[in-house]
Amino acid sequence: MYAYFHRTPLDEAFYAEHLKERIPPVLIDAHAHYNLPEHVTNVSPEAIAGDWALECGLLMSYEDSRVYYQTLFPDTDVHQIVLPWPLRDADTVENNRYVAEIARLPHVRGLMTVRPEFSISEIEKTFAQGNFSGFKPYPYMASAVKGAEVSIFDFMPREQFALANRLHAPVLMHLPRAGRLPAPENVKEVREILDSYPNIKLVIAHFGRCFNVEYFETALESFGTDIHRVWFDTAAVLNPAVYRLAFASLDYHRILFGTDFPILLWHGKREWSGGTYHNLCRENFSWNRHTHPEDEPNYTFFVYEQLNTILNVIGGQETVRQAVFFENAKSVYFDYTKGGERV
Ligand SMILES: [Zn+2]
Repeated sequence: MYAYFHRTPLDEAFYAEHLKERIPPVLIDAHAHYNLPEHVTNVSPEAIAGDWALECGLLMSYEDSRVYYQTLFPDTDVHQIVLPWPLRDADTVENNRYVAEIARLPHVRGLMTVRPEFSISEIEKTFAQGNFSGFKPYPYMASAVKGAEVSIFDFMPREQFALANRLHAPVLMHLPRAGRLPAPENVKEVREILDSYPNIKLVIAHFGRCFNVEYFETALESFGTDIHRVWFDTAAVLNPAVYRLAFASLDYHRILFGTDFPILLWHGKREWSGGTYHNLCRENFSWNRHTHPEDEPNYTFFVYEQLNTILNVIGGQETVRQAVFFENAKSVYFDYTKGGERV
């Protein structure tokens, strides 16, 4: 448990006013990372200090996650899609094993992290034994730099996509490259995946890292109708303009709610300018510039802001809400054949 995590009377008031009546009684968090301390002992203090996200959260056991969910969403039963920590210095084999163990519980499904050097036979065996419901590759496996100019196929080689295709498995993809979703090479490679491996359900994390709306606008132009062939998750996306455009442009069945816990357990929000975002945060992380100290006492949880934004954009459309918070992740991950028999 992170000591900085606490729910204040102000959070309770925000929840009562904006969320309590609108948050679904059951939801699926389709994007959160789980591990034990021994899986990340090789992640250096420099690596943690160099990435704001890792400083906020690098550890979350299943037990911790239950406390976070019950504290944040006391009226909601949260079902979980469990992802490992896809860091190059993490112990991926043991982390995958832990995810598989959690995924035996009711209302939980696990995704397996692959490394480019893993052999196909090894992956296939682990995937079957762990009863995984999809794959979670990650650009960090090809480069330690965030948004590095690497190819998707550098961290998930084509043979691994071919295996996922043969297994009809979902792939939750975190896109590389500074240009994010509309980077021409990303557009080209996503199209190649869709055309070459048609049995894969390709879910793109964080709306393709379109935290700023201009990236999503460009992506809609670049992809054309192909944008409707992928799914997106909402993890770590807070920008109302992104949600408005996404819900106006996409089929709502393609949008999956996700939090990116344990990275986003703090109080705050974001500002967007010049193609980038700035985290506004109350907690004293080393990256916190405290640009608006006078506002900080009024911040509620980032995830409350995210939920409120999504619920505002959806408005009174009950079917849409049900789909985004539950049905879509159920159909992509929970109904996946390999785990379909379980609850
Ligand atoms: Zn994530």
